[in-house]
Amino acid sequence: MLLTVLGTATPYPRPDEPCSGYLLQGEPTADDRRTSVWIDAGTGTFAELQRHVTLERLDAIVISHRHADHSADLLVAYYALRFSEHRPSGPIPLIAPKGMLDRLAAYLGPSSVDELPRVFDHRPMSGFGEASIGSLRLEWGPVQHGVPAFGLTVEEDGRRFAYSGDSAPCLSLEEIGERADLFLVEAGYDTAPDGVPAHHTPEDAGRTAAAAGAARLVLTHRAETLTADEARVRASAHFDGDIDVAVPGLSIAF
Ligand SMILES: [Zn+2]
Ligand SMILES: [Zn+2]
Repeated sequence: MLLTVLGTATPYPRPDEPCSGYLLQGEPTADDRRTSVWIDAGTGTFAELQRHVTLERLDAIVISHRHADHSADLLVAYYALRFSEHRPSGPIPLIAPKGMLDRLAAYLGPSSVDELPRVFDHRPMSGFGEASIGSLRLEWGPVQHGVPAFGLTVEEDGRRFAYSGDSAPCLSLEEIGERADLFLVEAGYDTAPDGVPAHHTPEDAGRTAAAAGAARLVLTHRAETLTADEARVRASAHFDGDIDVAVPGLSIAF
């Protein structure tokens, strides 16, 4: 598989730093196509996505949760999927929390109500679920974030990718990341606040990856006070495998 980072910023974009978004692609097939899934549509990631894959070649979209830094670019993706000369011929699978199309319609206006299902084939996430998209097998399950939020596992020929979405440390996420060849984990906290947490610190991310038995950890969605080096060093105190820090444009084959 091939993971390309489109953006990582939280909870708002900065110059050259879109919010959360990733392109995950399967291995090339005989006709040199890769199954391509856009994971999280944070602000600015739709433009970056188009550097790597055309709309016609995009096979599905997955949204981990409804926070705007993970979903806002669906609003403009709708325009592209509805009006572009290069739009796909049918609705694109949109695996996203239940109610997502209603939320988009509330912003886009009444004319979108009938059109949204013509561009998005919404497959609502509400608990554990699974889907096959091209060569990729997707599974998801709830994680801890204060709103309905989902972690994701993708398998292809025995290789496993896992993604935390936004989540505090939790047993469910450790299971989602189990034996992942690459585990993409957020580090939205520099230090955890008092009360019920909603994100990982770098130390938490190291512990979650270790508990899952992951081979490789990629830290993402860093708190703005955390440098990449600091995040890596702090996570490495709790995880022995390779650690990378996601930045826009980074591609990792695994
Ligand atoms: Zn969030
Ligand atoms: Zn977020």
